[in-house]
Amino acid sequence: MSNVLVLVDHTAGTVRKTTAELLTIARRLGEPVAVFVGEGVADALPALGQYGATKVIALSNPELTQFLVAPKAEALAQVAAKIEPSAILISSNAEGKEIAARLAVKLDSGLITDAVDVVAADGGAVTTQSVFAGNFTVQAKVTHGTPIITVKPNAATPEAAETSPEVEEFDVTISDAAKTARIVESKPREATGRPELTEAAIIVSGGRGTGGDFGPIEAFADSLGAAVGASRAAVDSGWYPHAYQVGQTGKTVSPQLYVAAGISGAIQHRAGMQTSKTIVAVNKDPEAPIFELVDFGVVGDLHKVLPTATEEVTKRKS
Ligand code: FAD
Repeated sequence: MSNVLVLVDHTAGTVRKTTAELLTIARRLGEPVAVFVGEGVADALPALGQYGATKVIALSNPELTQFLVAPKAEALAQVAAKIEPSAILISSNAEGKEIAARLAVKLDSGLITDAVDVVAADGGAVTTQSVFAGNFTVQAKVTHGTPIITVKPNAATPEAAETSPEVEEFDVTISDAAKTARIVESKPREATGRPELTEAAIIVSGGRGTGGDFGPIEAFADSLGAAVGASRAAVDSGWYPHAYQVGQTGKTVSPQLYVAAGISGAIQHRAGMQTSKTIVAVNKDPEAPIFELVDFGVVGDLHKVLPTATEEVTKRKS
């Protein structure tokens, strides 16, 4: 079976859920080989084995984490030259997409970004993407070189496989040209206790209809263990930070459940959330365009509906 490289997304050896999803997808295409950059590979090993990595290639050259993405792209190109994978899967976040783009140039290969699904078909990896602000869904396949695919969070449900991968240290040489942007400081994001927006399985978002009070949004999100999102109208009004904006000029999310409260459903907002598996809207206007998109709609005032829903969820949990 051919090898499929998966670039591991981790923080000091704690593997992110997106990597479990990539390994699950990789198993549809061949034998998953995880590429681990930085320190903490021993800590990461159980999680990588749990989701089916047959081997872990460890890249511990400190230059890989001292500089921005260019060294990682160089290193991955060297690994790919040795392993000759049938595909390379990378998480669709800002760093992942930049690495993927640089890697595609180095390997003279086709690149597909933001896949929401990847299946084995037609003798290779066929992806599904939502394009043109979500107006079309396309199936695509790389026809030149090694397919490099960035995959959005929640594209697959992680499936356990229980393997015991061996770790192989791999020496890479980083060129001076790749060492031009050094990381001088790195700060962890502010701890909210909530899941990261782009990785969350559930998101509760608020819009102009909140009137600036995100209390009911946050309380409902917390009752569900969800992340909080916001429309641009809410962000532009200064009610919520831009890091939480969902949409064309914000984050693209694809959770299992997306709750839009007080959001009208403008095309630019939809572009960031319409691949969510289940969409629920709470809006006091029955004619709001968001209702064209939803699986479940509640016509009502979010300041009444959300606290009632929060109470009900909390009651059922206890
Ligand atoms: P509105 O459209 O004003 O809708 C508010 C909704 O709340 C209404 O439907 C109303 O009925 C409802 N409501 C009011 N009070 C209540 C209540 N008490 N209870 C329940 N419902 C209530 N927008 C984004 O979101 N993300 C983007 O990334 C983005 N990028 C953009 C990029 C460009 C180039 C442009 C031109 C626009 C972009 N926009 C984006 C803006 C977008 O066009 C809309 O203006 C924005 O999404 C509207 O936000 P909203 O739905 O919160 O507000």
